[in-house]
Amino acid sequence: MTQFSTDLHDLTVAELLACFRLRKVSAVEAAQHFLARAKTHKNLGAFLDLSEDVTLAQACAADARLSSGTAGALEGLPIAHKDIFVTRDFATTAGSRMLAGYRSPFDATVVQRLAKAGAVTLGKLNCDEFAMGSSNKNSAFGSVKNPWDMSCVPGGSSGGSAAAVAARLTPAATGTDTGGSIRQPSSFCGVTGIKPTYGRASRYGMVAFASSLDQAGVMARTAQDCALLLSCMCGPDPLRDSTSLDVPAEDFSVRLNDGIEGLRIGVPIEFFGEGLAPDVRTVIDAALKQFESLGAKLVPISLPRTELSIPVYYIIAPAEASSNLNRFDGVKFGHRAKNYTDLEDMYLTTRAQGFGAEVKRRIMIGTYVLSHGYYDAYYLQAQKIRRMIADDFQQAFKQCDVIAGPVAPTVAWRLDGHNNDPLADYLADIFTLPASLAGLPGMSVPAGFGVGSMPVGLQLIGNYLDESRLLNVAHRFQLVTDWHTARPSSVNNYQLNSN
Ligand code: GLN
Repeated sequence: MTQFSTDLHDLTVAELLACFRLRKVSAVEAAQHFLARAKTHKNLGAFLDLSEDVTLAQACAADARLSSGTAGALEGLPIAHKDIFVTRDFATTAGSRMLAGYRSPFDATVVQRLAKAGAVTLGKLNCDEFAMGSSNKNSAFGSVKNPWDMSCVPGGSSGGSAAAVAARLTPAATGTDTGGSIRQPSSFCGVTGIKPTYGRASRYGMVAFASSLDQAGVMARTAQDCALLLSCMCGPDPLRDSTSLDVPAEDFSVRLNDGIEGLRIGVPIEFFGEGLAPDVRTVIDAALKQFESLGAKLVPISLPRTELSIPVYYIIAPAEASSNLNRFDGVKFGHRAKNYTDLEDMYLTTRAQGFGAEVKRRIMIGTYVLSHGYYDAYYLQAQKIRRMIADDFQQAFKQCDVIAGPVAPTVAWRLDGHNNDPLADYLADIFTLPASLAGLPGMSVPAGFGVGSMPVGLQLIGNYLDESRLLNVAHRFQLVTDWHTARPSSVNNYQLNSN
């Protein structure tokens, strides 16, 4: 084994790719290293499925392409996927009993594109059931732990992805964001995450939660790494996702180093109200100062309907979920009850057994707000306000180039926190929901530590299709700060038997 045998996992995506190209380390060696780490860190609960043979075969093929000079942009890169993306070679559960052991006959477009660029799949990552949640406690396969403090949640719903990247079990991971599920766990686990503009990456093969909001994205340790991955993931998919944008794939790395002198950063007053914990506020204030010292200008702005994003989202998302989850009827795929009296009883029993409490709650809320007599009062009204929220952003972008603020009101809460009250979780989504409802791109960038030495992420929101600017702003910040390089002490608790 090479000199990298023990610290391979500390390399960024960019560094790892350079090592592969220079043949300092092989894709197989890297795959073995990360698989071993996944196994020694099982107690984090991040991985749901590993398939060593598949991973090593992919790595072997990558090595062959590296040797023959036909390497793709991500050749050999180990990556793990949120278990919401369907995969042919690994089980796909979406964190639900309903899909336990389910195998898809095809790969999601995002998975396919990353594989085409040479990425090697390490396995599938735990998440809240059907991506519904903010703590990863809604997974049917157990909670994921936050590597910074094992008694805390990693955030959700892409909690497995964030925890795995933070604990260096994978250099990068895919995630999905419907109302904050990439940004919030990134913030809680101290990693960099980006959700692009709605429609940038194909939804084909993403187990559907709320189709008008669901968006694939990526988590890694740096903005540079996110740019590399996102460039390979995005692009139109007209035959398979009718909402994918007709905008050509873009190299998100080209503008990374642009200067940010004169950049106008909008700071929404509504993101700094009473609900924001003082420790988080201190970190965000310091990050904003840092931007000023880089030559950016802070502009106070207002997003007046921020508070309404909670009721609006928690009407629209369950409405769409109640319809999307119709397909889990015990007939087409997934779980089917063993004992039932007739067809209707089969549906009922299957769904009663297969879905967890949060999913059932949302199906009931969703069905209610769509039902005759309530549709106008709730669903239609929510859609109208959703449009106004999007308009507020467009007003704001007349005054600024990007928007910055906290990702979440607090640092990660304890696993037994929030009194198991779903409403408390919903309320904590307040700063991520607005950009999701508007379909705007958003990021979380490690910006410091708050109470209990837990990570705090700075949220950056850009206008439509302005991902490369977001990544540029985050990259410039990471050139002068080292929050993104901090590592949880649990990372090296388990020494590998170096071979
Ligand atoms: N926390 C939000 C919810 O529970 C967002 C989840 C997501 O983005 N997938 O719905």
